[in-house]
Amino acid sequence: MFAHNKRLQYTVRVSETNPGLANLMLEQFGGPQGELAAACRYFTQALAEDDPGRKDMLFDIATEELSHLEVIGNIVVMLNKGAKGRLAEGVEKEGEIYRSITGAGNDSHITQVLYGAGAPLINSAGVPWTAAYIDTIGEPTADLRSNIAAEARAKIVYERLINLTTDPGVKEALGFLMTREIAHQKSFEKALYSIEPNFPPGKLPGDPKFTNVYFNLSRGPGEERGPWNQGEKWDFVSDPEQQMAVDGGTGEAMPGLTTDEAALVEHMAMRTASIPDGDPLTGAELGMGMSPDGIDGAAPASKTASKTASKSASKKT
Ligand code: MN
Ligand code: MN
Repeated sequence: MFAHNKRLQYTVRVSETNPGLANLMLEQFGGPQGELAAACRYFTQALAEDDPGRKDMLFDIATEELSHLEVIGNIVVMLNKGAKGRLAEGVEKEGEIYRSITGAGNDSHITQVLYGAGAPLINSAGVPWTAAYIDTIGEPTADLRSNIAAEARAKIVYERLINLTTDPGVKEALGFLMTREIAHQKSFEKALYSIEPNFPPGKLPGDPKFTNVYFNLSRGPGEERGPWNQGEKWDFVSDPEQQMAVDGGTGEAMPGLTTDEAALVEHMAMRTASIPDGDPLTGAELGMGMSPDGIDGAAPASKTASKTASKSASKKT
């Protein structure tokens, strides 16, 4: 069960109204790297997890992410608070209010007018939150890697938000939220390495013929080698002939068809066959505005063709 504690996980002080900043903060409220996405990601993983240690960890972190959602949501509504009163009570001239809500920038006027300066589940560009942000596949060696990357992305978005905030209270709270994402990343990494083996993810091993091959497929100047493609662990393949049909076959796509299916496919191929030695007149050519004497590179005969084409077109309509 869930219970709500009235005290936040971290004290939030906001020194002044700033709807533009509030709108940017929405990125961590209803955005892809935001706290709701994190909470839902770990909560649903926890439900399905069979390992007691990981299950407990996922519930702990999911619940903390909901607490972060509460902190960031409070930052959003507090930054909007002054603007909310101004718009709701309408005590200023229309033009004044209009300027005050649009002047803040970052689409904050949309948050003001459509969402009453609340904390909508949208990102900073107004895109509604979606469960498609969560990429859980139900296999811990894959999901933990994705969780590590999700925490890394969340940390980076917080870092960017910190770099554009002047409000000291907001900066401090964002610093806390950013730091907690580091701690979560650490837990997920430890949990991943507590599974042995954890690479490659899943149960099936790769085909040893291709596991250690690096295909050098980008040709031209600027070729760089590094531990990702050199050394005794790598077979570096540059020869184009060795990059195609690596199974040793013909490299052709060969479907298995019944005699009837093959006949139908052949029939369709004949019906839609192209005429390689023709030179059909195109609509683009007809519309090129050729002069009657054939200057502009067009033959006068094309003019006649154009008339015929438009006649037959009008007949049809
Ligand atoms: Mn968080
Ligand atoms: Mn986190």
